[in-house]
Amino acid sequence: MRRFERKRTIFANKDALRESYQPDRIQERDEEIDAYMDALQPVIDGWEPNNIFLYGNTGVGKTAVTEYLLERLREDARGYDDIDLSVLTLNCKPLSSSYQVAVELVNELRPDGGEISTTGYPQQTVFNKLYEEIDAVGGTVLLVLDEIDSIGEKDELLYELPRARSKGDLENAKVGIIGISNDFKFRDQLDPRVQDTLCERELQFPPYNAQELSNILSSRAEIALREDVYDDAVVRLCAALAAKDRGSARQALDLLLLAGEQAQNNGDDFLEERHVEQAQHELERERVEEGIRQLTQHGHLALLSVVSLARAGRTPERSRNIYDRYLDVCDAMGIDSLAQRSVHNHLSDLRMLGILTARENRSGSRGNFYSYELDVPLESARRALEDELGIEDGLERTTQAALGDHGE
Ligand code: ADP
Ligand code: MG
Repeated sequence: MRRFERKRTIFANKDALRESYQPDRIQERDEEIDAYMDALQPVIDGWEPNNIFLYGNTGVGKTAVTEYLLERLREDARGYDDIDLSVLTLNCKPLSSSYQVAVELVNELRPDGGEISTTGYPQQTVFNKLYEEIDAVGGTVLLVLDEIDSIGEKDELLYELPRARSKGDLENAKVGIIGISNDFKFRDQLDPRVQDTLCERELQFPPYNAQELSNILSSRAEIALREDVYDDAVVRLCAALAAKDRGSARQALDLLLLAGEQAQNNGDDFLEERHVEQAQHELERERVEEGIRQLTQHGHLALLSVVSLARAGRTPERSRNIYDRYLDVCDAMGIDSLAQRSVHNHLSDLRMLGILTARENRSGSRGNFYSYELDVPLESARRALEDELGIEDGLERTTQAALGDHGE
């Protein structure tokens, strides 16, 4: 008997819902594509390329549209003998400075075995090596720096590179930078001189609305799902949920993927709205757990206090009483407690993160006060906290006591 058996009850091509899939058609971005093409036009005309800065939330098609257009550009550039176009794309997400980006670019351009080490050189030396490599490529060189916001304030390369030609550091190559950012604040925080050059052409990708997401998703579903296992209602629900949240096509695709998996795991052979709702729940849970993981220690302890009150059926509870519980928790764990004011700040941060909700109460002469309760499933909060506090700080037993017995 086989151990592994093919189960293609729902999906015809599941990979079409994943990050790495490149759609062969871009929908709902006609205006953005026009502006983008206009910004790329000098490449075909044989002039120095524009530097382009592209921004928008995650999942609004920045990477997909860029890949799509650059592919077209490369094809069409081949039709002109006097154009020698090279495109180099780098995802900067794992990199946190200009230095690292420059090293990465040098190593992409060098032949195997010729890579330089990722540390130990002065920054200018690495930049000079980069100019050498780019000049060796020659012609028009487009550098796509995706998720460039991860370099934060270490943005020197974005200042230097566009000026390399006028300074004589580059002789053969005409360089254009295409910077892509998920974070609009990154643009504002750039050195004004960098803004001037890098943001020569600025393109903004707005969030998608429900109708746009529905159209995008429906084309993808045709490829990804077997045709007799779903109807439009499911696609529309995924689109509506994603539109209400962040307008991200990625989110809509994730919902559809997870919904399909839910159906498959349940042994259902038709995809229904309840599967999408389950999927939404699952994504929400992951989001919460991720949010909780990023809190500081006292953020965790403030949340732990609310969780333990919730378990006792005592929420919503006013912040003063949450603080009392927090003091007990710190005491039991042998951790120095913070002042009431700071704990209130942590509670208010937890509210901003969507982990707690607050209600304002009037108490006559003594002013108003807030009551807090969990805005996420108790079980999700509990599990995330257990991971954080229990394992990292070796506080299993106290955490367990505050979170409730978990031995059953
Ligand atoms: P971003 O780079 O802005 O975070 P992506 O380009 O990665 O977003 O898009 C997220 C997902 O949605 C990808 O799978 C992409 O193929 C798909 N997608 C986004 N916009 C469109 C669109 N207009 N048409 C078709 N697919 C799209
Ligand atoms: Mg992207």
